[in-house]
Amino acid sequence: MSEAPLWKVAVDAPLPEALTYAQAPDLTSFRRGQLVTVPLGKGNRSTKGLILGRCTSVVPNNAKLKSILHLDQDYPTLSEPFVKWIEWLSNYYIYPIGRVAQLAYPPLRKQEKPRKSNRSPVIPSEQIESPPLMTEEQARCVNAISQFKNFSSHLVFGVTGSGKTEIYLRLLEKVLNEGKSGVVLVPEISLTPQLIQRFARRFGDKIAAIHSQLTDRERTNQWWDLIEGRKSILIGARSALFCPLPNVGMIIVDEEHEPSYKQDEKLKYHGRDAAVMLAKFIDCPIVLGSATPSLETWKNALDGKYQLHQLKSRVANRALPTITVVDLRDQKSSEELQQQSKEKYSNLPFWLTPTLYEKIQETLKNNDQVALFLNRRGVAQMIICPACGHTRECPNCDINLTLHAQSHLICHYCDYHENLKEHCPDCKEGHLEAIGLGTELLEKDLAKLFPGHKISRADRDEIQNRSELETLISEMETGEIDILVGTQMIAKGLDFPKLKLVGLVLADVGFNLPDFRATERSFQLITQMSGRSGRHVREGEDPGAVIVQTFNPEHESLIFAQKNDFIGFASHELSTRAQLNYPPSGKLLGFRIQGSKLSNVESAARLLSKRAQSLKSQFTQYQRVEILGPAEAPLAKLRGQFRFHLLIKGNQASSLNSFARQTMGDEDWVPSGIRIIIDVDPINLL
Ligand code: ADP
Ligand code: ZN
Repeated sequence: MSEAPLWKVAVDAPLPEALTYAQAPDLTSFRRGQLVTVPLGKGNRSTKGLILGRCTSVVPNNAKLKSILHLDQDYPTLSEPFVKWIEWLSNYYIYPIGRVAQLAYPPLRKQEKPRKSNRSPVIPSEQIESPPLMTEEQARCVNAISQFKNFSSHLVFGVTGSGKTEIYLRLLEKVLNEGKSGVVLVPEISLTPQLIQRFARRFGDKIAAIHSQLTDRERTNQWWDLIEGRKSILIGARSALFCPLPNVGMIIVDEEHEPSYKQDEKLKYHGRDAAVMLAKFIDCPIVLGSATPSLETWKNALDGKYQLHQLKSRVANRALPTITVVDLRDQKSSEELQQQSKEKYSNLPFWLTPTLYEKIQETLKNNDQVALFLNRRGVAQMIICPACGHTRECPNCDINLTLHAQSHLICHYCDYHENLKEHCPDCKEGHLEAIGLGTELLEKDLAKLFPGHKISRADRDEIQNRSELETLISEMETGEIDILVGTQMIAKGLDFPKLKLVGLVLADVGFNLPDFRATERSFQLITQMSGRSGRHVREGEDPGAVIVQTFNPEHESLIFAQKNDFIGFASHELSTRAQLNYPPSGKLLGFRIQGSKLSNVESAARLLSKRAQSLKSQFTQYQRVEILGPAEAPLAKLRGQFRFHLLIKGNQASSLNSFARQTMGDEDWVPSGIRIIIDVDPINLL
């Protein structure tokens, strides 16, 4: 046997643990954090791997260990805090360590020849602007946070338009002055030029932006700019966390409540939680910001784990918009109103109440802008045969097809398309009817009601890439667009001076989703959407307006949102969650069982549940673990895969983690053709 040292290497393969390799005699010693190439499997196959350290355990004498092939000298050695973070991610989210480690490297090799183009924002130095005078609330918050140089978590809870972004800019300025770098995470959708320009006007070309629309080359170049210190502020979506830039002095997570911080595939990490852990390992402050903090974060603030910094008013005492709730039931039931409506409002489509209609007219007359929001795309959600009751469903997914323009029926999950037939394909007699509403229908109806006004639509059908979103934003900024219709795409972080009226066409859409966070999501959406209205009204001017149409005016999310009462909402919702031991009181872990044959999926789900039950009954430390299910997932079939789920609830993340690992065991009991996917702290329960 060789005397050479042995190394633990996290190889880029679906293996739960690191592998042990020998050091070839002609290679010098390695260090933890280095990238190497190692042989893997049969033949001459090789793959990348991250050195985790010397292997200290005894390897059986007869084990034939392969040797590390070479060191990849092009890449920097990952720092100790960063490697610890990678290990934490793999362990906490139960995901192969080598796969996690690979996320720390750029997609392509370093480009040696000088670069011609660089899409990162470069602002001529004369356009660099000096910061505005801070408001008292802003100054207090910046002073408090900048006292901290080591790990400490801060929640900046400020109403929409209170100037949170300005706080981030000031904090980053201090970080840069100390010769350090900073990371700012934002939800992908708000990573618009509007935001990047705002940072660039302050920090010039020190900014690097990493988002999903970069080419591999651009992403690689940005990565090296950060690694080699040419840029020192990284703004990006959640994946930006994986860029191992040196000397990080602060991490900021804007809109920390955003569900899109959770990755829904592969490594199912939560960008915010991962950011807090990274800050902990790096030992730097972390700042989370929101007008509607997630209940997880809010509870941490209440428990004193996060320091709370509150901003109660908008910048320059701009008023918050007034929120009017219109009860759609009254519109239907009141005889009197119906009489009136018949004469005066006979031209209105069913989704538009006289209240909202008149406010739109008034706003347009003042040359201001209107945004109407509906979280449904297309023309109608349901195609039904009145003769036999047949509804058109996607053949791959357990979901109704949505009607779009030109009689296209589309599945919003797998993109299956078909043409709407006139007659029911089932009974061959009934004429198919469309029921429901969507953004396309609103757009069509508005065009008829307000001829001569420019109406634009922002949803995933209309806006498919960044440049389309950028065009839309600039047309909103210049005032070219009069009415914007959109899905939640337009609820996020946008700042349009002339936007004075926000209408929520049907607030009820989100109320009844089979998700314990449905009420929280509705509150967030209503508040964030309202936050787009009247952001620039001057003191004394009429505040912006918000009109919410609903069949459930007494819904908690609406009552509290109307009063702008996040704290009241949170305390109400926290007590409901506590009763059921749902997060943030308890912890959740989900198993999804999927496969192409329903009976196999179902029996695998039962097998899994049986294993979980017996584990629970065998070990006292699992006594308090609750097992929910197995049950068909709300989306019982998706892209041709049948889906079951099993949820486990507990009080401690660590005990759920070991419970899940033990339930899975060595996995050789899993029937072939079945995949079981673990989701720690699941957000998407569909
Ligand atoms: P938030 O992120 O809290 O919604 P923003 O940071 O976008 O709020 O600020 C709202 C608006 O107020 C922006 O147009 C911003 O430029 C402006 N603003 C922020 N701070 C100040 C300040 N101290 N003085 C003047 N304007 C400010
Ligand atoms: Zn489908």
